[in-house]
Amino acid sequence: MKKWVAGGLVFLLLVLAVPAFGAAVTIYAPDGRTAIVPEEEVSAYLAAGWYATFEETIKTIYAPDGRFASVFLADVQGYMDAGWYGSYEETIQTIYAPDGRTATVFLAEVPEYLAAGWYGSYEETIKMLYAPDGRQISVYLTEVNSYLAVGWFENRDDTIQTLYAPGDRTVTVYKSQVPSFVAAGWSETPALGPAVALTFDDGPSGIHTYSILDTLSAYGAKATFFTLGSQVNAYPGVVRRAKELGCEIGSHTYSHPNLNTCSTSKIQTEIQSAAQAIRNATGAGPTVFRPPYGNHNATVRSSVGVPLILWNVDTLDWKSRNAQSVAAHVLSHASDGDIILMHDIYGSTAEAVKIIVPALVQRGFRLVTVSELATEKGYAMNAGKVYYGF
Ligand SMILES: [Zn+2]
Repeated sequence: MKKWVAGGLVFLLLVLAVPAFGAAVTIYAPDGRTAIVPEEEVSAYLAAGWYATFEETIKTIYAPDGRFASVFLADVQGYMDAGWYGSYEETIQTIYAPDGRTATVFLAEVPEYLAAGWYGSYEETIKMLYAPDGRQISVYLTEVNSYLAVGWFENRDDTIQTLYAPGDRTVTVYKSQVPSFVAAGWSETPALGPAVALTFDDGPSGIHTYSILDTLSAYGAKATFFTLGSQVNAYPGVVRRAKELGCEIGSHTYSHPNLNTCSTSKIQTEIQSAAQAIRNATGAGPTVFRPPYGNHNATVRSSVGVPLILWNVDTLDWKSRNAQSVAAHVLSHASDGDIILMHDIYGSTAEAVKIIVPALVQRGFRLVTVSELATEKGYAMNAGKVYYGF
């Protein structure tokens, strides 16, 4: 014990003796410690990471919400790890309003600005717009709606349009050029393939009409049925199915008289009773009318209330009752715009349809209703007027 006290005393004397050998200097560690050392040892301490002045051991750091603090160098990394920054500039960000205004805010404020409709980059606040004549312009987001209101577009694709000419030629032009191209014979819609209207009279029957509808449905085809009111009352379900498939329901009178031999009141009764039967079955009246035997007079034409549809291809299916010859007749005569006459009360016709429909589709024909065919060919059909084809 005594020996230890003596050793400590010797050490203390040595420390006190230092000033006698040279000037004492205070130096600073990066964690806040200080030491007083002989001047000649200072360089060795500095090399070991001490500093000559207190100011060198502290650094100002910046929080993302605007706070700042002076800390010892040894503490800086810990603050950085906690989200502080080494310079003020790092804690601020320029943000952009959709009307062109800018603001410099602390990082901590950025989310609320973004939530309020500001943007993190200038590029996000501007939008390229397109005029129908090919001009482009960059505007602030807040200006977009006023440009759209006067005919500019957000998508370039909206300013151009494809036009069509016969022979599968196409051209893509600015919308402002469309009228001059149309005037020069180009079309805004693609050239459709040829189309015909298959028409069936005297039904509906039960199984044969269903068979025809099955065939049409399988090929996405449609037809027009000139129904007899008496048959509609007997088979309302098949008429509804035809309509659901997109087929057109026409009237062929109630009981199939030769209207040229009927009184005015009989003509009107036949027309009205048939229309009522169709309305009862489908919820809507007939849109076209075909007189039995194709016979019509002024009374018929003024009473009927819808266009009179005759035909320009007659299969004579009622006469031949032969599926092959009916199909052969259609396939050798059908051309664009034709109205083809058949009857959906014969099994042979239903069988012929199974040949005709796929063959016409394969040739590029579209099978549409009479009214669709008229519209497609540019006919505005009128009530009481007679049409044979388009
Ligand atoms: Zn008939």
